[in-house]
Amino acid sequence: METIRKIVIVGGGTAGWMTAAALSKILGANYAEITLVESDDIGTVGVGEATIPQINIFNRLLGLKEDDFIRQTHGTFKLGIEFVDWARKGHSYFHPFGPYGFDMKGVSFHAFWQKLQTLGVSDSISDYNLQAVAAREGKFMRPVQVENSPLSTIAYAFHFDAGLYAKFLRRFSEGLGAQRIEGRIVSADKNAETGFLEAVVLGDGRRIEGDLFIDCSGFRGLLIGQQMGIDYEDWSKWLPNNRAWAVPTARVHDNQTPYTRSTAREAGWQWRIPLQHRTGNGYVFSNNFIDEQAAMDTLLQNLDAPPLKDPMLVKFQGGHRHKFWEKNVVAIGLSSGFMEPLESTSIHLIQVGIAKLLQMFPDKGFEQADINRYNRLSVLEYEYIRDFLVLHFNQTERDDSEYWRYCRNMELPPRLQEKYDLFRSRGRIFRENEELFNDTSWFAVMVGQGMTWRGYDPVADVMSDEDVKRQLFGIKDAIRKSSDYMPTHEDFIRANCAME
Ligand code: FAD
Repeated sequence: METIRKIVIVGGGTAGWMTAAALSKILGANYAEITLVESDDIGTVGVGEATIPQINIFNRLLGLKEDDFIRQTHGTFKLGIEFVDWARKGHSYFHPFGPYGFDMKGVSFHAFWQKLQTLGVSDSISDYNLQAVAAREGKFMRPVQVENSPLSTIAYAFHFDAGLYAKFLRRFSEGLGAQRIEGRIVSADKNAETGFLEAVVLGDGRRIEGDLFIDCSGFRGLLIGQQMGIDYEDWSKWLPNNRAWAVPTARVHDNQTPYTRSTAREAGWQWRIPLQHRTGNGYVFSNNFIDEQAAMDTLLQNLDAPPLKDPMLVKFQGGHRHKFWEKNVVAIGLSSGFMEPLESTSIHLIQVGIAKLLQMFPDKGFEQADINRYNRLSVLEYEYIRDFLVLHFNQTERDDSEYWRYCRNMELPPRLQEKYDLFRSRGRIFRENEELFNDTSWFAVMVGQGMTWRGYDPVADVMSDEDVKRQLFGIKDAIRKSSDYMPTHEDFIRANCAME
């Protein structure tokens, strides 16, 4: 195989344009010819508007000016996710970004908090995380360097308009020399001997040749599935949701919460994502437990403003391709797999796919060892996220519908059972290898969903009872004062990055 010079990206949704932007920036037009093909007739999936803090790494890689990015995508800031009615009806908790307190004497903060509870102090773990406190009060600011202040560690992500994000990245990529071709791909040419893809063919007969093809064609999996014949691993027994109704509503004054809200419903959950110009809403559900019409009615009855258009139905299946990279085709985005957006992980998975491709870039031809590693890591990444998602559904007191009874009693993925066992005994959480969600996230959701532990981790006895109380109350106070100091989310946007 010759040096890779022609890269063809199939699809111009979030995955396609993120890939085009990153490759144009890192490889540059002088190194490779980057062509993106997309079909205006087919369009994009049109959802996908909440992110996690890792997107800041991607933005830094591209060298984006954050205020411009937010202004142009009508974005807002996100400090975490509020989960309403998940553990039981009438209950809510917050999964924040950033850690609780900080590790002291090499011991995880949550061990001290658990010890504090056994000392008869009953307070909320959320009080020990600035993002959670600020979110509750509608506050936001970027971190500022103040020694020993929680203000220096504020962690955040964004909500943005998916359509505007793709346009933003398109302008960025084209500015760096990426070529865009509009047209519908109707077939592809493969080398009969090697099975490598040689070209994609458009409806009008145009043939676009490439050395490396990146399949960003969405759920269709045009290249990875239809051309390379890679099957899909179905995870519906763990992630039974397979449909979503999505509908935007008008922006209501003062409702730009700096967080996503997820509300559990009879057969799934509803998202609420505030943007500057509108609010995104959707009901993710399983049609094995509620019919589509009833799900749409539920969504429409639970909006905080009138809908701006008719709801749109999206069908999906939780799971992933058996291989993410086959010969000279790499699948990124929905073509490679999907897990429901409960923890806003899909855009992150696009980013991870791009980063791994760059790490193992086949500049001098394809090495099977690289491909195998890419595939193995991608499956692991998916499995870790899946286990975290399953936790939300499975650890609940809710048994008010067939759906929740199924979720409570489902057979667990093996690694998840081990996580439960470790937590239930001494409240311990161990991060596996490079799994995305760290112990703060696991702790937030385990405690939020109502899991309990038999005793606190004895390593917390490294500090006396009095010291634990003094330290933790000090931290709580510092967080409280930091939140008081912060401007409101709306004021921050108005001052820095309001849409024009
Ligand atoms: P698409 O947007 O579907 O793009 C596919 C592209 O391929 C289009 O440009 C299309 O025109 C092109 N194409 C297809 N066939 C052809 C053809 N024959 N010829 C030419 N072009 C073709 N992710 C998050 O991170 N956060 C969220 O909050 C979130 N919410 C979601 C909610 C729902 C209900 C769903 C379903 C997904 C959500 N996601 C979320 C996932 C997110 O939407 C996707 O990861 C992201 O939009 C990437 O999609 P994509 O680019 O892979 O596919």
